[in-house]
Amino acid sequence: ANLLHVRLADEAICIGDNAPHKSYMNASAIISAAELTGACAIHPGYGFLAEDANFAHQVIRSGLIFIGPSPEVIAQMGDKVTAIATMQRLGIPCVPGSDGPLPDAPEAQQKIAQRIGYPVLVKASGGGGGRAMAVVREASSLISAVQEVKREAKVSFNNDCVYLERYLENPRHVEVQILADHLGRVYCLGDRDCSVQRRRQKIIEEAPAFDIPDSKRRELHDLCVHACEKLGYLSAGTLEFLYEKGTFYFIEMNTRIQVEHPVTEMISGVDIISAQLSIHSNSPLGFLPKEIHLRGVAIECRVNAEHPISFAPSPGTVTVYHPPSGPNIRVDSHLYQQYCIPHYYDPLVAKIIAFGADRSEAIARLRHALNECVILGVDTNIAYLKRILANRSFQDRTYSIHFTEQFSDGALV
Ligand code: ADP
Repeated sequence: ANLLHVRLADEAICIGDNAPHKSYMNASAIISAAELTGACAIHPGYGFLAEDANFAHQVIRSGLIFIGPSPEVIAQMGDKVTAIATMQRLGIPCVPGSDGPLPDAPEAQQKIAQRIGYPVLVKASGGGGGRAMAVVREASSLISAVQEVKREAKVSFNNDCVYLERYLENPRHVEVQILADHLGRVYCLGDRDCSVQRRRQKIIEEAPAFDIPDSKRRELHDLCVHACEKLGYLSAGTLEFLYEKGTFYFIEMNTRIQVEHPVTEMISGVDIISAQLSIHSNSPLGFLPKEIHLRGVAIECRVNAEHPISFAPSPGTVTVYHPPSGPNIRVDSHLYQQYCIPHYYDPLVAKIIAFGADRSEAIARLRHALNECVILGVDTNIAYLKRILANRSFQDRTYSIHFTEQFSDGALV
């Protein structure tokens, strides 16, 4: 209720209590708010119901526009087993895996894992947020790991379907941003590297993904555009891949805007949210797919209200807030001085993004921006982010998705 954008809005409607299931997850309350204010469309953002096909259905059934792809496509991509099968059919390379849900019989599970080859990763088909996954390095631990992931998946996602993928030891996370309009045109807005993760959650993202040969990059973009054309995709979406030893492996598709979209906006000059609004109001975008030109490098840091060493959430009142500013710096945040960060939600409180002609310029600007940023009253991970940006491996681009583990172990110079 006290977020900056709510305070700036012309009108605000209460949709329920603080607990997410009583408000942000309450589809009827959200649709009622739209009806009360005479809104014609709902943008689902990137949390809560953003990838909920039932919500999209309800919005459309209520006569409103849902800003996103069709509920059918959301459902198809929301179930990772179905998403992988679909992408395989469309010619997208995937991680070698169980090619379907893992059967219940332990002997069948062992056989599939043997065929894929250890180490394998047990993953939840309905999963998200890096949860419900387990690496299995030998046959003797497979069955108990599957049981454990199934249990967690049931509790977290109310869906205990699991599947297997080969566990890639040292990949990078590379993803492709797509925009598809109401005329069936699919635009590729380039790619991002999101390998700096903690507990499989991204903390630093950049565009474009570095050190990928042009021909490989073009081939990947073309495959993604082709797949989205075939899917009848609409609006913004991201295809996520692991990239190891020169090969891309699809892992999942997000059918919504992503937290890290600003880095793509900065190198493409396309305001993706505005483009979504144009697409869903059947207005022209004003440019063609071949007119997208990517320029420079943009890097984003996620500032979380959390202890910089224990990473425990740090809710509370922000007593001093001084965001960085200046040319080529963008700050997306709901904070202001005296705002009280509640303990109910994600600890992300600001995204700080810097643009540069090249990667080292973007890093230098981002380091300045973080030095300038003051958030007092709560703990933040700003000092941790600064240490990462100062790290040699980060600067030299010699890392994988294991960056933060190795960084904490002191294994990275
Ligand atoms: P979620 O939807 O929960 O975010 P993803 O499938 O997108 O799950 O994977 C999240 C992260 O987990 C990836 O960015 C990567 O770091 C790791 N990961 C996923 N699949 C694999 C795999 N097959 N091998 C190694 N790491 C993986």
